[in-house]
Amino acid sequence: MSKSNRESWAINKKTLMLPIIMLLVFSTIAIVLSILLSNGFYLFNFLYIGGSVSIGMFLFLAMPKKLKPLGRKISQLLVGLYMLVFLGFIQGENMQIEGFWVYIASGVFAGATIHYLVAKVAGPLFFSRGWCGWACWTAMVLDFLPYKESKKAPSKKLGAIRYVHLFLTIAFVVVVYFVLSAKNQTLKPGWELYWLIIGNALYYLVGIVLAIILKDNRAFCKIICPIPVLMKPAARLSLLKIQVDPIKCIDCKKCEQKCPMDIKLLEYKNIGKRVCSTECILCNTCYSVCPTGAIKMNVGIGDKIR
Ligand code: SF4
Ligand code: SF4
Ligand code: SF4
Repeated sequence: MSKSNRESWAINKKTLMLPIIMLLVFSTIAIVLSILLSNGFYLFNFLYIGGSVSIGMFLFLAMPKKLKPLGRKISQLLVGLYMLVFLGFIQGENMQIEGFWVYIASGVFAGATIHYLVAKVAGPLFFSRGWCGWACWTAMVLDFLPYKESKKAPSKKLGAIRYVHLFLTIAFVVVVYFVLSAKNQTLKPGWELYWLIIGNALYYLVGIVLAIILKDNRAFCKIICPIPVLMKPAARLSLLKIQVDPIKCIDCKKCEQKCPMDIKLLEYKNIGKRVCSTECILCNTCYSVCPTGAIKMNVGIGDKIR
């Protein structure tokens, strides 16, 4: 991308290609699921989500450099608010991970089940942890905090808390079911809503406190959130990845300094690989700060830079 393009709007093949691919992927999911499950709601749902992410992505790519972060925020707000307020609070779907386990255990193919399977289990095969960068309703709030650059990556030991948390969410659901069945009871209507409200309030509280203490907006994502554990296996094989062009790169390290997930992009460049880290949330911050246009997000099989 030339300097003039970075100062003004750029509407061309490059800025349109990825949003169109993303929209096609979501349209395919929407059509397949609505036919397979004979439910027109999935057509609306996935077209809305795909449309929102594609609009955000187009704005990010096309807008002048200073405005780029706005494109991602628009996508986060459009998807995050839709999922939390409309699907969660109004439609009564428990979008928390515990809700997913409850629906799986009871064999219910609810919206939350489909959401987790598409966005967090299978979808990362194509768009890696793009959910975390462009759509998550927790991060949509955390990303408004002022600690955009992480000064120091948390230790790997702290990162293990996410695995323990995932285990605890399963254990919690099992215990609730055990207690209820011992009393010959089932989950009462409306409980999901309280569960969703309390769970989310806790996530926001812990996320904000942690961000302030560690001066890192994404500390919650790196230490506490259990969702990445679900995403990582497919994300490792993702078709969509970031890559650094070794010819254009001048080793200024701006991309690494600004990366909210502490990714060592130059280590990947130096071994001729695309960014394979399953911590990458495809936020494209590195792309927008690179002074030489050495960074791009591309679709391909395998790790090698092409
Ligand atoms: S790690 Fe968790 S909180 Fe962070 S963006 Fe991903 S799903 Fe959201
Ligand atoms: S490597 Fe780039 S796209 Fe990935 S998390 Fe870091 S800044 Fe975002
Ligand atoms: S910001 Fe661009 S030029 Fe600088 S080190 Fe990163 S990829 Fe290389």
